[in-house]
Amino acid sequence: MNVKLLGGDGEIGGNKILVEHKGTRIFLDFGMSFKQAGKFFSEYVQPRKCSSLQDFFEMGLLPELDGVYREDYLKHMGKQKEKRSIDGVFLSHAHADHAWYIHFLRIDIPIFCSKTTKVILQVLEETGSGSISDLVSACDTFVFYRNNKGELKRASRKKSEFVHDRDFTILEPGKKVSVGTLEVEMVPVDHSLPGACGYIVYSDEGNLVYTGDIRFHGSHQKLSEDFVVKAKQAKPKILISEGTRIDTDKKDSEAGVKAKISDLISDAEGLVFVEHPVRDLDRINTMYESAKANGREFVANLKLAYLVQSLGDLCPFKLDDVKILVPKKSWGLIGKEDIDPDLIEQDYNKWERDFIDRDNSIIYSELKENPSKYVVSMSMWEINQLSDINPKNAVWIKSSCEPFDEEMKIDEKRKKNWLRHYKIKEYSAHASGHASGDKIREMIKEINPEKVIPIHTENPEMYN
Ligand SMILES: [Zn+2]
Ligand SMILES: [Zn+2]
Repeated sequence: MNVKLLGGDGEIGGNKILVEHKGTRIFLDFGMSFKQAGKFFSEYVQPRKCSSLQDFFEMGLLPELDGVYREDYLKHMGKQKEKRSIDGVFLSHAHADHAWYIHFLRIDIPIFCSKTTKVILQVLEETGSGSISDLVSACDTFVFYRNNKGELKRASRKKSEFVHDRDFTILEPGKKVSVGTLEVEMVPVDHSLPGACGYIVYSDEGNLVYTGDIRFHGSHQKLSEDFVVKAKQAKPKILISEGTRIDTDKKDSEAGVKAKISDLISDAEGLVFVEHPVRDLDRINTMYESAKANGREFVANLKLAYLVQSLGDLCPFKLDDVKILVPKKSWGLIGKEDIDPDLIEQDYNKWERDFIDRDNSIIYSELKENPSKYVVSMSMWEINQLSDINPKNAVWIKSSCEPFDEEMKIDEKRKKNWLRHYKIKEYSAHASGHASGDKIREMIKEINPEKVIPIHTENPEMYN
């Protein structure tokens, strides 16, 4: 078995692991590298769509390989048709640095993942979150057609004949799938995104274990413990292990976060705002339960409401058990008297419209009138709603990681200005999505592979 890290080597994220065995070729993850992208691009300077893959190859964001990428993009670059060279891509979870570059893959490459991962990718695609499209389906680009009037038009998502579903297979824990000469087993792990898993790849030349992103201190730590047991049983030749926090033995715990948040809510008089990783449903469930324990209701924003609805039973709580905050958007007609509902609707995207008028939908005025009844999910991207709410005696609980690049630091400063303006007190309570160094070393020792390949870490030398 031959293993190449085509991303994630000496950096946190961008995982793209190519595994080759007797003519079978699979990828474990196909994510974007924040570090490499950040060297050349920003919010304002993006790789150009018109160059299709060229900017990504040139700046080292994608490996140049034949038989991997979308035919519409290759054609636009003047390249010949290629034969598919990859038998499958196995996604560990739906974080950008592991999954979002499947956008660029040929649509006939089979993609394997957990059910939750697929739902999250679908929601990202439908709501346009994260500014990346074409995850579970791909729309032909750089293609023209003639409409019934004979006019030349560009292909777009409005025409279903140009949209093609990708070839997804949902994996069940404990069930192996065969791909060429390999067998692959998905094993769920605990991480800061639901649906996360690691993989065991079986071959006649020995086995390989990949941790994905893993921790042992979340609400589902039992999953990670069971993963270690399974991985050990596989007697792997190779263990590809994440090491985001290999350089620290600092203990984190989700239970500790819950206790702290619960105390803060219990002491609060006015509104409680909580800032959390947008799709970390374990953390959001922590907020939901802490709110409930203190006689308050949890308030979700529209994107979160859509995710909860799409996940259904895969989400730890029900959409009916929370309130949905419908923000003022566009013309801001919501909450105004005697306005035609059709006109109000036009303020919102199609996917948002179902939430405008539900029994559990609320608007800013409810938060203003009954501040002690709610715990409100809030982020920097919606903070301008504070102007409508005008909160008094409010608190803000930051339950997400500290800024790690310049742009994030500037956003954080801006957020603090908003909080100061409304005299909102800020607290923090957070636990990482990644295992600490001592836990990673303990895991490696227990699994006892012949060889360890560090990934998703800036300190690969610390594995020795
Ligand atoms: Zn990651
Ligand atoms: Zn992750």
